[in-house]
Amino acid sequence: MFSSCSRQFGNQRFLQLKRFQSTLVIAEHNNEALLPITQNAITAAKKLGSDVSVLVAGTKCGPASEAVAKAAGVTKVLVAENEAFKGFTAESLTTLVLNAQKQNNYTHIIAGASAFGKAILPRIAAKLDVSPVSDVIDIKAPDTFVRGIYAGNAIQTVKAKDAIKVLTVRATNFEPTPLEGGSAKPEPIAAEGCAQDLTVFVSQELTKSDRPELTAAKVVVSGGRGLKSADNFKLLYDLADKLNAAVGASRAAVDAGYVPNDLQVGQTGKIVAPDLYIAVGISGAIQHLAGMKDSKTIVAINKDPEAPIFQVSDYGLVEDLFKAVPELTNKL
Ligand SMILES: Cc1cc2nc3c(=O)[nH]c(=O)nc-3n(C[C@H](O)[C@H](O)[C@H](O)COP(=O)(O)OP(=O)(O)OC[C@H]3O[C@@H](n4cnc5c(N)ncnc54)[C@H](O)[C@@H]3O)c2cc1C
Repeated sequence: MFSSCSRQFGNQRFLQLKRFQSTLVIAEHNNEALLPITQNAITAAKKLGSDVSVLVAGTKCGPASEAVAKAAGVTKVLVAENEAFKGFTAESLTTLVLNAQKQNNYTHIIAGASAFGKAILPRIAAKLDVSPVSDVIDIKAPDTFVRGIYAGNAIQTVKAKDAIKVLTVRATNFEPTPLEGGSAKPEPIAAEGCAQDLTVFVSQELTKSDRPELTAAKVVVSGGRGLKSADNFKLLYDLADKLNAAVGASRAAVDAGYVPNDLQVGQTGKIVAPDLYIAVGISGAIQHLAGMKDSKTIVAINKDPEAPIFQVSDYGLVEDLFKAVPELTNKL
């Protein structure tokens, strides 16, 4: 009896908390299109309560705001177009979010745990004088969040007591909200005071690739120090092309200059959870595993049968990669 009562009160509290939720999701986009991580962040926001607004700030971000307005469960889309948001600097966006916060009293402010979200949300939290909760992997209640610590080796459940919860959420733990079924209308929001000279955007150089984006790809082929040179990574590019896969790498391969650092998977790189992850010439250090161990199927190719990567892999091939990879590519 006691336990069912307390469960009932617990549920009531959860429903009461939910009723007063209003969440602002900060959209990550490139003006023309929404980046998929925003769709994961919207799903996380929907777990908190029904009122989900999305803020799209950019220079000519009409297409991105129209896309997110179609997302099911989004009630409002706030759009700020201004030269101040060129380069999406944390300083200009923080001012905008604080203005929106003053007007609408959000209980939660959310972004994906990408370089974008990680740059902006700590600043917003500091300005609001609240503790940010980073890299959330599950939401138990509007004030209770689950996150990985020690490079994902332990899971922590935290209760945030601040009135405004500022969260970054790990994309791979929340299914993307489809961009259909919603009917929000983009509304303009003023960008007053957002232009500042604390940080000035100068330019950016983006790596162009026809391959899928690493964090969104269904298949990832990753290479490690075992590849031995930048030229040998061609073996992996050929395999990736056959599988329509993204290419990733261990930190050792990045540090050795075999590939650029935006390919790094792991604790200090990107977190991926594709349907298929193929680790080639990677030993399986915990810092690497922290970035890929949630992949649905893991395949490892390594000539050392004792390599720790085999402990987390579903399929392991003990073989010289220079023999196994071309054979695999030919057979595909
Ligand atoms: C704070 C911190 C953060 C870090 N963050 C990251 C991170 O984000 N991502 C990350 O990856 N690492 C990270 N590291 C580094 C990590 O500890 C390892 O050093 C790194 O992952 C090792 O990379 P590797 O597996 O490619 O190299 P190695 O450990 O050297 O392994 C190479 C593997 O290739 C195999 N091999 C060699 N030749 C062949 C062949 N011909 N055929 C088949 N197999 C072959 C070997 O048997 C070996 O298992 C971090 C470390 C620290 C301290």
